[in-house]
Amino acid sequence: NSVFAHVVKAPEDPILGVTVAYNNDPSPVKLNLGVGAYRTEEGKPLVLNVVRRAEQQLVNDRSRVKEYLPITGLAEFNKLSAKLMFGADSPAIKENRVTTVQCLSGTGSLRVGGEFLARHYHERTIYIPQPTWGNHPKIFSLAGLSVKTYRYYDPATRGLNFQGLLEDLGSAPSGAVVLLHACAHNPTGVDPTIQQWEKIRQLMRSKRLLPFFDSAYQGFASGNLDTDAKPVRMFVADGGECLLAQSYAKNMGLYGERVGALSIVCNTADVANRVESQLKLVTRPMFSNPPIHGASIVATILRDRNMYDEWTVELKAMAERIISMRQKLFDALQTRGTPGDWSHIIKQIGMFTFTGLNKEQVAFMTKEYHIYMTSDGRISMAGLSSKTIPHLADAMHAAVT
Ligand code: PMP
Repeated sequence: NSVFAHVVKAPEDPILGVTVAYNNDPSPVKLNLGVGAYRTEEGKPLVLNVVRRAEQQLVNDRSRVKEYLPITGLAEFNKLSAKLMFGADSPAIKENRVTTVQCLSGTGSLRVGGEFLARHYHERTIYIPQPTWGNHPKIFSLAGLSVKTYRYYDPATRGLNFQGLLEDLGSAPSGAVVLLHACAHNPTGVDPTIQQWEKIRQLMRSKRLLPFFDSAYQGFASGNLDTDAKPVRMFVADGGECLLAQSYAKNMGLYGERVGALSIVCNTADVANRVESQLKLVTRPMFSNPPIHGASIVATILRDRNMYDEWTVELKAMAERIISMRQKLFDALQTRGTPGDWSHIIKQIGMFTFTGLNKEQVAFMTKEYHIYMTSDGRISMAGLSSKTIPHLADAMHAAVT
């Protein structure tokens, strides 16, 4: 009789569980549009050429060993990651007001940031957009924060509910933490315009709300790393404080290497230094120190002008392939005369389209067409190819007619 006999079976993860169901389906036409992972036109996972080159360099360097990294991770990786988001000429970096610690991809960075706030910040409430990436509420509540939502998406316009957003942040308690997707909002693909970002910034600063940026898609929204960094840079340029979780899963295709960073921009170098000492107390008992391989790949690429340029070209190609899939899917629905306005497919930004298909329609497409996606109707555009679009369009057409 097991001492664990009372343990009940947990449900599959709402996103990764889609892949489990997909793997169990024997159909040859099956299509996995659940998890946000880039695929080539041939439907294959992609390792960037520049990543292969960097790995080769690392392997050839016999002086490299497998010693532990410091608790805060690879110092050069941390510096270059901060520079990538805040910009080469960022005063915050020059004034040593930024502390950056290497964490386990975006998820780990969010968790470490959340735990730091729960221990050391006076306002324990974090506002997350409605809807948001499904892991956000779990990460922050387990970190010890109280999670509330602010209005973000308007199903009627399939765009931003800007008025609702301003109202909800306007009535949040002073000092509350606000989670913002730095670009390419997941799952909606809807981002504020630069003018709207500026209004959000003014409101948040006037109410002393603390921005916590989640950057999982830098470069994936526009195809340009600096353009996608603009909203974050606006908040740093005003001299105020903020947190940033960065992931290299998507933009360098390093998903399974779990490479990311948490940065905290502070008022002064002295505060940043003390904050860093406390971040070490969060991560040391959590994972002791982060893994070396992925961070070394990133540092190799970011430090070398030539490799950096090669990366930006490959990144742009990924972003452009996704954008072309948007147009092709839109055209395929037009050709079929599928009822409804599908222009949001080409208007939305980043890896995902928030189709507006409901749970029943999603279930129908999975059952009849072997197409797998999250039940909120989100599809990963990065998982599509010219060959699979007709099948998806047939399924969507059948689901709504
Ligand atoms: N934030 C958002 C909004 C995401 O979409 C993701 C990836 N799906 C992450 C964070 C973190 O991913 P990872 O831990 O793989 O870097």
